Amino acid sequence: MIKFLKFFNLSAILISLLGLTAVVGDYLVLHTNLDLFQAVFDNATHAIIGGLTWFIFCLRYKNSNTFQNLAEVAVCATISSVIDLDHFVAARSLRLEDATNLKHRPPLHCSTFPLLTCFILLLASYHLEMIELKRSTLILFAAFFTHHVRDGTRRGLWIYPYGSTPPIPYAVYVALICLAPYGLFFLHDLFKIRISGNEIQL
Ligand SMILES: [Zn+2]
Repeated sequence: MIKFLKFFNLSAILISLLGLTAVVGDYLVLHTNLDLFQAVFDNATHAIIGGLTWFIFCLRYKNSNTFQNLAEVAVCATISSVIDLDHFVAARSLRLEDATNLKHRPPLHCSTFPLLTCFILLLASYHLEMIELKRSTLILFAAFFTHHVRDGTRRGLWIYPYGSTPPIPYAVYVALICLAPYGLFFLHDLFKIRISGNEIQL
C-alpha cells in the first residue's frame, strides 16, 4: 500500500512535469525569433516528452537492470526527436529553411504507419511470447504517439488514406500528453504475456 501511494505521488508529480514540459516548450518555440533556436526548442521538447513518458512507464513496469531502464528512456527520447529528420530527407537538403517549408508532410508524420506497425508488432509479441519485442514496440509507440499528438496541434493527425484531422485543440493535446503513460499501461496490460501459465510483469 505504501509502495502504491509512493508510486502514485511520484507519477502525479512526473505527469504534471510532462504537461508543464509541453506548455513551456511550446511557449519557448512560439516566443523565439531565430529559426534555429525554434527548431532546437521544438526538437528538445519532443525528446523530453518522449523520454519522460517512458520514464513514468518504467516506474511501474521496470526492468531489474537500472541501466536498461535508463537506456530505454534515452532510446525513446532519441526516437521522439529523430522523427523530425524526415523533414530534411523529404526536402533533400540539410538547410533548416528547406526542411521547415515543405509543401507536404514527410512520411514519418503519417500516423497510419506507426499505428499499424505497433499494433502488428504487439500482436506478434503476444502470440510469440516475445517480451522484449513488446517492450520495444511500446517504446516506439510512446515516441510516435507523443510526437504526432504534439505536431497535431498545428496540422492535425495525418491518417492516410483519409487525410488529416483538424488541428488538435490545445487543452486536448496537453491532456493526451499527460495521459500517454496511462495509454502505455493499458496496452501493456492488454497484451500481457503469459509463459507457461505465469504472468510476466516486465
Ligand atoms: Zn514532427
